[in-house]
Amino acid sequence: MVEKPQPHQDTPAPILTLADWIGDPVDPASFPETKLRWRNDRAAATVELDKLSDAEWVAHFGRFEPLPGNLEKSLALRYHGHQFRVYNPEIGDGRGFLFAQLRDDRGRLLDLGTKGSGQTPYSRSGDGRLTLKGAVRELLATEMLQALGVNTSHTFSIVETGEELWRGDEPSPTRSAVLTRLSHGHIRIGTFQRLLAHDEPGHMRELVEYCLTQFPGPPPPENAPDRDHPAIRLLHQVVERMADLAASWMVAGFVHGVLNTDNMNISGESFDYGPWRWLPRWEPGFTAAYFDHAGLYAFGRQPEAVGWNCAQLATALRLIAPSEGLIAALERFGPLYAEHLRRRWLWRLGLKPQGETQDGALIAACERAMQESGEQPDTFFHTHRGGRAQSEELARLMEDYDPVLSPHPYRQEEPPQSMLIDEVETIWSAIDERDDWEPLLEKVAAIRRAGEAHGAPPEPAAQDR
Ligand code: AMP
Ligand code: MG
Repeated sequence: MVEKPQPHQDTPAPILTLADWIGDPVDPASFPETKLRWRNDRAAATVELDKLSDAEWVAHFGRFEPLPGNLEKSLALRYHGHQFRVYNPEIGDGRGFLFAQLRDDRGRLLDLGTKGSGQTPYSRSGDGRLTLKGAVRELLATEMLQALGVNTSHTFSIVETGEELWRGDEPSPTRSAVLTRLSHGHIRIGTFQRLLAHDEPGHMRELVEYCLTQFPGPPPPENAPDRDHPAIRLLHQVVERMADLAASWMVAGFVHGVLNTDNMNISGESFDYGPWRWLPRWEPGFTAAYFDHAGLYAFGRQPEAVGWNCAQLATALRLIAPSEGLIAALERFGPLYAEHLRRRWLWRLGLKPQGETQDGALIAACERAMQESGEQPDTFFHTHRGGRAQSEELARLMEDYDPVLSPHPYRQEEPPQSMLIDEVETIWSAIDERDDWEPLLEKVAAIRRAGEAHGAPPEPAAQDR
């Protein structure tokens, strides 16, 4: 066991300042089996947990024995949310909880939260469990997103738990697992919506303070109305992060699938991966979730969905903040989204941005080229990286651009890494049919290597944070 709190961890955990209303103390399920299937030592190193033995790891992330000096009891967090635009006050952590809070080496707060750890007061008719396939899919999504420069939660641990689960969307019975994720907080837009619904302005103010302190961001623009109001400051930060998040999914060719307000972390991190897909071809109407009949969260509608979610946060904050400042913050979403899309698109192409008009024309031409050729987006970006191998139109448009590329051998390799459904199913089949985990581990290693070749996207300019 870790005997004492790690050097840069603070005790008590900051969430405890909100503990009497933010969540409910809960016990983990007692599982018949705990087999360690994935430990993310890269992520663990950032919070000083990479030195745990496998047995210690399973004690903490399979049986949820508290980390020393950390939360004594896990908290099932309370929240509401709009699900497919319908307000639902009956949700909350129904199969997960906040297990611990840690600081990374830069002093930033990180939560360890679970999925599949048992029933809670919010489980409704659910079993509180996660399928092993669901856990494997979340691992693949988070690793691929990270390699594509998306700000995402990390899949910290997967422990197989030896139960048989029944699901409508998987051949059943199916195997069970408990997943632990590492992310900058678990405060959702839905956490604020609940406080509006219950008319709790005092708690809303506390939550705003908590977010501003724990997930700091830059101040609003000089001319922003009500810019000194804490809730207005927070909304500006959330709008900035969400606009970037939406842009990052689009450039990654990623369809999250369930953009409900309870799945929106105010830290701007992408999280909670269910029926996600990567685009097989550039198609704005492409839908990931089989239950999204209206295509509400289709690929091309994601920015609008995220903007709508920000508006729900503004509505909730209206409880404690003036409308003028809230509206002004919301109005920044569209222009910020456009700027982030441009920055990230050019980054993925490995080209130095040349200005709004020129870059905009290039992006439009890339979209047209993908739509006309049917080329898979990962292939398109890979073959065009640094301005190579283009059609006449793209060649002309790319003429003035300087490549910005790291000399990594991955750049010359074919095919590039992608994460299409057939490959995901093949990786799962090896586990399902032969208990063969090699293809999964090989895939994760290959994605991480691609991520090294891509490097990190450049920081946004100060005015476009
Ligand atoms: P999600 O679509 O995964 O974001 O979940 C929406 C809500 O349903 C959240 O409150 C979850 O905790 C809850 N939920 C989903 N699956 C289960 C389950 N198997 N058991 C209990 N609650 C669940
Ligand atoms: Mg969720």
